[in-house]
Amino acid sequence: MHLMMSKEGCTVYPIIVPAPYSLQSFNFYLIEEAGSLTLLDAGIDTEPCWEQFIQTLNQSGFSVHDLKQIILTHNHQDHIGLINRITAVKEMPVYAHPESIHRLKRDKAFFSLRVEFFRQLYREMGCGEDGERQVRKLEKAVRDNEKDKIQADIIPLEGMIAGLQAIETPGHSPDHLVFLDSKRKWLFSGDHLISHISSNALVEPDREGKRILTLCQYVDSLRNCMALDADTLFPGHGALIRNHQELIVKRLSRIEEKSAKIRRMLESGMTTASQLAQSYYQDKYRSQFALVMSEIIGLLDYMEVQNTVQKERKQGVWHYYAAGPTS
Ligand SMILES: [Zn+2]
Repeated sequence: MHLMMSKEGCTVYPIIVPAPYSLQSFNFYLIEEAGSLTLLDAGIDTEPCWEQFIQTLNQSGFSVHDLKQIILTHNHQDHIGLINRITAVKEMPVYAHPESIHRLKRDKAFFSLRVEFFRQLYREMGCGEDGERQVRKLEKAVRDNEKDKIQADIIPLEGMIAGLQAIETPGHSPDHLVFLDSKRKWLFSGDHLISHISSNALVEPDREGKRILTLCQYVDSLRNCMALDADTLFPGHGALIRNHQELIVKRLSRIEEKSAKIRRMLESGMTTASQLAQSYYQDKYRSQFALVMSEIIGLLDYMEVQNTVQKERKQGVWHYYAAGPTS
């Protein structure tokens, strides 16, 4: 599969690796301009991904030694997987959002604060033993992921890099960036916008351990992205996007539909995030606990900001109630 795209002296070589579940593919990109080669995101840490990366380089007439730098849309595992392998072959700078660095460097203090954040969050959301189980999984992941610490120096990214304008789009992750090539109307959109699935606005703590209102941020970032003059979006998963404004309208209205459904569930007498999650997502509540809770908590935060719900704390658990005009 060769999908290179060229325009006005710049060439993009997509690296596309098949992905399980609904993700379709892991996409990352070689960008060549004026003899300089940049890697945007770095895939997942698997052998097939590495082979596809090397094959795309070779078919395009390059080797790892031609790479000048790596730039990142965000810190998630499936966007940073090959960095250590690449920089072991050739040292090069890695550029990322300032909020990526403590995560990429596996900062111990931050990750233990993050575990405590989720322990308290799941308790306050009424998750009981399901929450405790998830926290044990998280604790194990912190130990197991120690080895994934990025070895290279990470340079905080602001403004322009490799002819691309880095634009903050927090929501899917607190450190998310999209990169605009305004000359060619190209936008490297990471996980901010994906053609075939809705991106999750994952609940995360900030550096002080306070909950970020991720869905509110995501909605703002979608609206900002709407105004960007781009005709081709290169996403982190799935197919290229040609109609990003249309897709954003669809994503925004889906969030409103979900909020309306939550509101009806509250009106029917459910009050805790855990009850809502079990009723809304059924089996997925156990099989995809973190994602499902993140989604419901994000929606409740969003609705609270809109004044369509209010909450009350009873014996350490938040109970939510529909507020404002009835639907
Ligand atoms: Zn992601």
